[in-house]
Amino acid sequence: MLIGFLIGALAGLACYALAHDAPWLEVVIGYVTQPVGDLFLRLLFMLVVPLVFSALVLGVVEIGDPRSLGRVGLKTLVWILGVTAVAVTIGLILVNVFRPGQGVPHEVGEQLLAEAGHRASEIASKREAISAREMLLGIVPLNPVRAAADGNLLGLMFFALMFGIAAAVVRSEGTRTFVGTMQGVYDISLRLIEWVIRVAPYAVAALLFTLTARLGWDVLLQLARYVGVVLLALVLQCFVVLPLLVRYLGGMRIGRFFRGAETAMVTAFSTSSSSATLPTTLQAAERRLGVPRRISRFVCTLGATANMNGTALYEGVTVLFLAQFFGVDLSFAQQLLVLLICVLGGVGAAGVPGGSLPVIAMILGMFGIPPEGIGLVLGIDRLLDMSRTALNVTGDLAAAVVIARGEDVEPLDDSIPSALESVEGD
Ligand code: ASP
Repeated sequence: MLIGFLIGALAGLACYALAHDAPWLEVVIGYVTQPVGDLFLRLLFMLVVPLVFSALVLGVVEIGDPRSLGRVGLKTLVWILGVTAVAVTIGLILVNVFRPGQGVPHEVGEQLLAEAGHRASEIASKREAISAREMLLGIVPLNPVRAAADGNLLGLMFFALMFGIAAAVVRSEGTRTFVGTMQGVYDISLRLIEWVIRVAPYAVAALLFTLTARLGWDVLLQLARYVGVVLLALVLQCFVVLPLLVRYLGGMRIGRFFRGAETAMVTAFSTSSSSATLPTTLQAAERRLGVPRRISRFVCTLGATANMNGTALYEGVTVLFLAQFFGVDLSFAQQLLVLLICVLGGVGAAGVPGGSLPVIAMILGMFGIPPEGIGLVLGIDRLLDMSRTALNVTGDLAAAVVIARGEDVEPLDDSIPSALESVEGD
């Protein structure tokens, strides 16, 4: 993707410098680079409904019947929603303070919107719809099939949550079959994402070419500011918020926590996948941090797909960055809505490399921001994906430590890490 990014950006910059107004450039953009980029985005969109629906249903089903699972399930749920909301809030505050997307001249923003097929009137009506009270009412869809078809992500998420809760409570042969089917839908969606991500480098080159050929250098500078904001927000959540929670709610020394979490964090950083890191996460929780198996199994397994502070934070920052980039003003109320959607988006994203991309494409569409903008952030996505995945996994471990404390678990003695070393050596 990075190579695609560089090729697209360099070719685009060269064209910007040499042939800015040449008619053939418009032809190249109109008939080659834009359609290729669009095709990729369509593939991403195609996956949103099956992915988000199955991920949310399974997430809730795994939390289980609140009556039987009791405290642990409920505490996990509160942690996921609460801590993720804090993460997204940090991201949104930083993006409002630093405004990394600002700087594209208004007319250019309007032109880009128009070329992306978003007519100004359409956007205006969408914006109105979002700011209006109906948007909040729209969380409860009249018709879930229409919500899915219209790209009403929040409506679809609400329906999936309700469905999941009912599926967790009703214990019948039929429900088990349904949950098995959802697992199948989820697994298939993951495989499809993997395939789509494989063509991403070409799409990145095409999308980047389109943008730099039009806007020149400035785009890249804005992009650097955006990367800085995402990383700063991730660092604050990972090294300030989580340690405070671990120290004061989990009663564990911060140094001890990070020493225990280290292997899982490094694995997450290098694989960009919470799911692939799960065995290491479990090992870190049980052996290094002394979390009882009963709790680590539940919290970390669920967390690998549902507890994603890093992903939710990243989604929030990206949506706002692209809104600023295209000159789409989002009011305070709309930003609150972004926060809510991103918290659920963290639950609905898959724990695989690039798992949050379909969700972001969909959220952008909801707010009248051209999903094409995703091409801008895709090229540098790997670095951000690695970083947010490390935070996702650290968040799972912090959750396990805090929740285990509430369950009156004895702290682990310090000889255990060396025992683990021998396991790793094997
Ligand atoms: N790669 C992330 C994870 O596995 C998901 C994402 O944000 O794309 O946790």
